[in-house]
Amino acid sequence: MTPILVLEGLSKRFTNEDTQFQALTDISCTIHKGEIVCLMGPSGCGKSTVLRILSGLDTADTGRISKNNGKAFDPIHTAMVFQEHGLFPWLSVYDNIAYGLRMKVRKNPKEQIAQNVKALLSLVHMEDFAHSFPHQLSGGMKQRVAVARALAVKPEILLMDEPFSALDPFSRRELQDEVIRIRDVLGTTFFIVTHNPEEAVYLGDRILILSKRPSCVIKEIQIPCKRPRDLADLVMMQCVREVTRDVTSG
Ligand code: ADP
Ligand code: MG
Repeated sequence: MTPILVLEGLSKRFTNEDTQFQALTDISCTIHKGEIVCLMGPSGCGKSTVLRILSGLDTADTGRISKNNGKAFDPIHTAMVFQEHGLFPWLSVYDNIAYGLRMKVRKNPKEQIAQNVKALLSLVHMEDFAHSFPHQLSGGMKQRVAVARALAVKPEILLMDEPFSALDPFSRRELQDEVIRIRDVLGTTFFIVTHNPEEAVYLGDRILILSKRPSCVIKEIQIPCKRPRDLADLVMMQCVREVTRDVTSG
């Protein structure tokens, strides 16, 4: 497996008025090309902070983020999907997806954009909704568009921060299956924060668990089950129990 992202000793301290606290102490891990890695840990332990640093929205105080060849990793190679879809309400589904393409390559010819958007709409099964606006879509459909928009810039790694937490269980399962399918079709690497042990075990090839703050990676769990996975499977149930125990005991 080819490493695509190597995190070594990331630390982060926040200053709030006159108080300081250490959010991350020593985050070290490797993510491989085409892997789905889930990041878990107690609330407030710094999961979103890790994603924000990887996406370039924040910076680490110390440590190193590199690619497999030792070169520094550029956040431009990431895209982010948040819990709240973050679509522009005044733009149609088509224009929301095209937005990233227009931003990335300003001289992108119109036909090229149209072709890319069409392919992305089809990838997330939203072909019939190109001209709809976000308020006309269900929560699950909005997240599909958010995923398509993020994929439009062809990220090497797609970062997702509790992307399906606000969805009902059926939409959540559909979107989880979409992630797996997109990885299989496009080879995209996913780094997904979730607080849901079943979701982590269903989605993840590997799960990283952070300790309570100041946090570091306390455990890595490789999920040994083949896909399609069944949460009622005995080994899967054991994994869910293990993950729940490790996150709770932090
Ligand atoms: P998680 O996603 O694991 O719930 P976060 O990464 O959001 O945790 O936050 C980790 C800790 O850092 C929390 O205690 C949070 O309040 C704090 N924090 C996050 N961002 C900032 C910031 N910009 N300024 C100050 N404190 C912050
Ligand atoms: Mg968070």
